[in-house]
Amino acid sequence: MALAYNDVVEKRNAIDFKTQAFINGNYVDSQTGKTFESISPVDGKLITNVSECDIEDINKAVKAAREVFEKGSWSRMAPSKRKKILFNFADLMKKNILELGILETLNMGKPISNATGDIAACINCTRWYAEAIDKIYDDVAPTSDNLLATITREPLGVVGAVTPWNYPLLMACWKFAPALAAGNSFILKPAEQSPLSALRVAELAIEAGIPEGVFNVVPGFGPTAGKALGMHMDVDKLGFTGSTEVGRYFLSYAGQSNMKRVSLECGGKSPNIIFADAPDLDHAAKMAANGMFGNSGQVCDAPSRLLVQRSIKDEFLEKVVNYSEPWMPDDPFNPQTLMGTIVDKTQTDKILSYIDTGKNEGANVITGGEQVKQDTGGYYISPTVFKDVRNEMTVAKEEIFGPVLCAIDFENEDEALQIANDTDYGLNAMIWSNDLNKVHKLVKRIKSGKVLVNSLSDGDMSLPHGGFKQSGFGRDKSLEALGQYTQSKLTLIEIK
Ligand code: NAD
Repeated sequence: MALAYNDVVEKRNAIDFKTQAFINGNYVDSQTGKTFESISPVDGKLITNVSECDIEDINKAVKAAREVFEKGSWSRMAPSKRKKILFNFADLMKKNILELGILETLNMGKPISNATGDIAACINCTRWYAEAIDKIYDDVAPTSDNLLATITREPLGVVGAVTPWNYPLLMACWKFAPALAAGNSFILKPAEQSPLSALRVAELAIEAGIPEGVFNVVPGFGPTAGKALGMHMDVDKLGFTGSTEVGRYFLSYAGQSNMKRVSLECGGKSPNIIFADAPDLDHAAKMAANGMFGNSGQVCDAPSRLLVQRSIKDEFLEKVVNYSEPWMPDDPFNPQTLMGTIVDKTQTDKILSYIDTGKNEGANVITGGEQVKQDTGGYYISPTVFKDVRNEMTVAKEEIFGPVLCAIDFENEDEALQIANDTDYGLNAMIWSNDLNKVHKLVKRIKSGKVLVNSLSDGDMSLPHGGFKQSGFGRDKSLEALGQYTQSKLTLIEIK
């Protein structure tokens, strides 16, 4: 949608923030009455104070979610009716797309045009699962003649989700859309850096016709509210998106509590392999920059390790540097801006510290490498490219989660594969080559949940998203995700 700067600013100034937890269909203060500050990375200023939930609030939300689940007003509703309500929900998000986008931009500093794009993706995702649910049939098993055996899918019950700040509503929607479509009750603990869009969307769920208690939002911190949800004895499933480090906690919470099902969408350090025989080196260079600097590099599957064949290294890196230039960060409320801020001061300091580490370990910055626009009070870092990176360096091993591209050169296919797989992660990999044999061989051997060939496109909702190795397990998007919010039941009837 075409946006005008003045309309965005006017709308931003008129927003009445929803700041309380949303439990059982109502906005409520946290039980302790405590709040936390929501600071905007755009200018470093306070946006508002948000209710800080803790164990008592989680208990309250789980109780409400359980009661409505057992009552059946959502869980046993005919799928065709749930579909209609989810369509209403998507329509209401569409009606409020600008406001929801502004909340994302205010909270985590992504450009407004990307933020509204994220909300459009949420609308599409909600419709996709709504559309699916009255078209999926259960199974009758081909067993003995005297038996009738059916395998039916049932919702799990109470689903919790703990999500990150990089795509605040979209990462939540990849969980709530399939979970709700399947008939579950849902409790979301959004990241403390970006709770505002989820809090606003909660009342839209009720307006759409989702019964009270089915959709709850409990803002707060990870080690308190997030842990309470992970440890709760009456939560049946926990969908997590965030760092690998915190993902491990959720495995442990499940083990220490009720063995709830867990799915983990965690970190990445994805290789982007450029061969000299790539179909269009100029396009590949542009995509290398776009993939790395979109969302200020705060993307789980960003192509952060750029593997370039030695024979084209200098020529290719020069192109990448040229394509980095348009990504200089600017005011995220300007619809023309490509790259906005880093999410907060902590993350900014972390990225700058990685840039120092890279230099100290012998890598060379060929563009960027600095904090900029400090006069705004916000957190901006210029698009940064390192060359002469070796895969054993810290900047090549650890997830920086900022606009920092690490270029590593390789001689041949075998070396490229060895470097690509030499990582704890396995979320995404990209290959640019015209040689089909080489491509197929690499695709089979790369340990990654996704391999993109001569493309940066992530495709649509029909495609699963998730990782190998310590990037997690389980999948968001596609029918695979819907399956993760249900469990199968075998019924066996003996026919006399
Ligand atoms: P994070 O792990 O710090 O936080 C994620 C969520 O976990 C937040 O809601 C946070 O409050 C909560 N949390 C933190 N500590 C906790 C604890 N001890 N117990 C329970 N909950 C806790 O991640 P982040 O900084 O918000 O997001 C960035 C990370 O997310 C990156 O590693 C990125 O790769 C990952 N990510 C992965 C995907 C994917 O699909 N694989 C998508 C987006 C982001």
